Amino acid sequence: MSNLLELRNVSKVYQRGLVNTKATIALNTISLTLKEEEPTILTVAGESGSGKTTLAMLLLGFITPTTGEIIYKGRNITTLSPAERLAFRREVQAVFQDPFAVFNPFYTVDHLLTVPIKRFGLARTRKEARAKMDEALTAVGLRPEDVLGRFPHQLSGGQRQRINVARALLLKPRLLVADEPVSMVDASLRANILETLRNLQRDHGVSIIYITHDLTTAYHISKSIIVLYRGNVMEGGDVDSVIKTPQHPYTQLLVDSIPWPNLDQRWGEHAIMAREDVTASGGCPFRSRCAKAMPQCESRPPLYRLGPHHATACFLSVDHPEVEAEHLSQVLPT
Ligand code: SF4
Repeated sequence: MSNLLELRNVSKVYQRGLVNTKATIALNTISLTLKEEEPTILTVAGESGSGKTTLAMLLLGFITPTTGEIIYKGRNITTLSPAERLAFRREVQAVFQDPFAVFNPFYTVDHLLTVPIKRFGLARTRKEARAKMDEALTAVGLRPEDVLGRFPHQLSGGQRQRINVARALLLKPRLLVADEPVSMVDASLRANILETLRNLQRDHGVSIIYITHDLTTAYHISKSIIVLYRGNVMEGGDVDSVIKTPQHPYTQLLVDSIPWPNLDQRWGEHAIMAREDVTASGGCPFRSRCAKAMPQCESRPPLYRLGPHHATACFLSVDHPEVEAEHLSQVLPT
């Protein structure tokens, strides 16, 4: 079985300052794989400063890793030929948080959808282009006659975000990086957009990396999850195990803040937001906030396997075997 996407020990470090240079580790040695034949939805969860948006930028090829490699269909994305890069740009699409940002207020929806059709030569005639637009809009639950010919201000936030998804779908992507796609959408439309994403995975074979600070929507949409804190994986596995029986103190803190059982209420509205840890250097990144910290937490904990699809990076689980090479694919369900 071939790999669609592989992250091999990927880290991203930002250097700040010219004289007293300070390094900030935005992402610390992440390894995982998505299989080409098994489209899935993987959530990357974390709060501000967790490294999740850095991960999105890396996956889209907008920034390069400091160390490690990102392999797409067997090729390192930093060394693609022009033709391979064009294919990568077409097959790896993004949906961002702000459904308003990609709309120019002076252009209709038709223009937004026509641009990728022209850029990637998806249609030879206007009729063919219109058929593709209709197909993509219908796939995300919109009626073409309701949105084509309209300007952005004539559409709801939910319609705009679904048009963004339709725009990505036009290109028949293999991977969609969805970075907080429902965080700026009304609660009444959130479920609708999440269902649209799930349909893309199920009916169109698109793998989705769903990036969010919201464990509630993560629970609804994804099969597997990684929890990040300050660029490090705290816990990962199937979404049921991680959210229903979290083992890492940080994940427990996050899960405790979910407004169960009202899953329609957005997590974060009542969340205990993680405070920025300014004291930790080396060791467990969570230790200055952890009520269970011990002397050995001065070292960085490895990833311990708690079950077939559950792992945590915490010395409280030291009785469990370590995940080989800390490769998350060994515990993420496909
Ligand atoms: Fe707390 Fe130590 Fe576990 Fe880190 S490794 S979460 S400091 S107990």
